[in-house]
Amino acid sequence: MNELIDDFSARAKKYLSGLDRRNVFPSPSSLDNLKKFDFPLQNGPVDPAQVLRELDETGSPATVASTGGRYFGFVIGGSLPAALAANLISGVWDQNAGGVTTSPVSAYLEEVSRKWLTDIFSLPADTGIGFVTGATMANFTSLAAARHATLGKMGWNVEDDGLFGAPAINVVVGEEVHVSVLKALSMLGLGRSRIIRVPVDSQGRMKASLIPKNLKPAIICLQAGNVNTGAFDPADQICDIAAGMDAWVHVDGAFGLWAIADPEKEHLTRGINRADSWATDAHKWLNVPYDSGLAFVRDASHLLASMSVSAAYLVEGDEREPFKNVPEMSRRARGVEIWAALRSIGKDGVKDLVKRNCEYARLFAERLQKAGFRILNDVVLNQVLVSFGEPESTNTIIKKIQDDGTCWCGGTIWQGQTAMRISISSWKTTRDDIIKSADAITRIAVRELSGSLIKKTL
Ligand SMILES: *Cc1c(COP(=O)(O)O)cnc(C)c1O
Repeated sequence: MNELIDDFSARAKKYLSGLDRRNVFPSPSSLDNLKKFDFPLQNGPVDPAQVLRELDETGSPATVASTGGRYFGFVIGGSLPAALAANLISGVWDQNAGGVTTSPVSAYLEEVSRKWLTDIFSLPADTGIGFVTGATMANFTSLAAARHATLGKMGWNVEDDGLFGAPAINVVVGEEVHVSVLKALSMLGLGRSRIIRVPVDSQGRMKASLIPKNLKPAIICLQAGNVNTGAFDPADQICDIAAGMDAWVHVDGAFGLWAIADPEKEHLTRGINRADSWATDAHKWLNVPYDSGLAFVRDASHLLASMSVSAAYLVEGDEREPFKNVPEMSRRARGVEIWAALRSIGKDGVKDLVKRNCEYARLFAERLQKAGFRILNDVVLNQVLVSFGEPESTNTIIKKIQDDGTCWCGGTIWQGQTAMRISISSWKTTRDDIIKSADAITRIAVRELSGSLIKKTL
């Protein structure tokens, strides 16, 4: 084992130190090499050192360098050194984080992380929490608690009696709702089509005044951080309306919730802490390794009621039992990485990470705008949408940027306009990374656009 750990350690160092020099997306030949993994499974064992060598030699070059400083696709966070180290040590521990008895250390670190996180997000100190795989499951878990509480008020026990014959719940979302909320609603039997979609403005913010009045019972899902524009639904206004009809308010804040850490973003985040439940990702803006999401529920009893199981063999004490707050029973110890990330950067570190990424998003937008390209969104957070003109040229340029390998950005369609989407979400990203990437993008786009202009003229 010791030799294997030394071998691993040398390979890990090599991979991490090479991130800056390699293309962000793997080369066609590295991808082609993946075929080397595909052969009929042999009968006998293979030396673990050889297994590791095969994974590293063939697998590492085929990875996406999303832990480097120039990956701007989707909303993908990097991996803080302490969080990665915590991931490795907890791999060594191999704890089943489901229960206090199966892993006292994991349960304890979850509870400490719960306190630290509720403080960062300005949530009540006794807010319930579930450590899940990502924001999709965090939305699911929070909305299960919402379903329990909403039907419970009407005398219906949804966990015991299901939804057949239950009173109907009105579910309100913004037109720009993230698909993961729809998926959560579909899995919960609340339906992804029988919802009320409220129109949004040019940035994707819900027009709160258009929420139908006197819907009862209702769950209102608002969004903190639109995946395209970074915009926030007006939480304060929505919470006022919800209070008037006794509705449950759920916040999908997969990355945007972290903006609460920066007081300068108060104009975006005001009122978010008035909601009843919140979903966020730790693998996005907290920069812990995949996978890691968090579900928060103001009244922890609703979370417990929707997620609890009981069986004679499940020993239960007075402490918070992790498995009673999530859909899973056995699972890995995500709280360890979250504790380590927070411990290593502190409250100021979380704030600075958000602040710095947002500043870089503005710098990126400024440079592209100066180069003559159109920025489609108000850059209020870490997301930038850029258009290179016609949809075809924008798509061609995105493809060429991806092939060039200096950085990686994806495409999107924003309110009918084809755009390239830039998300700055990593502690690793420096000012230099932004300048280098903006320069590469400009060079590629200018060449492509002047080329197609010449073609048109001819
Ligand atoms: C990323 C994202 C999700 C889904 O998160 P996963 O971690 O991929 O499950 C949900 N909502 C928003 C707003 C997001 O940005």
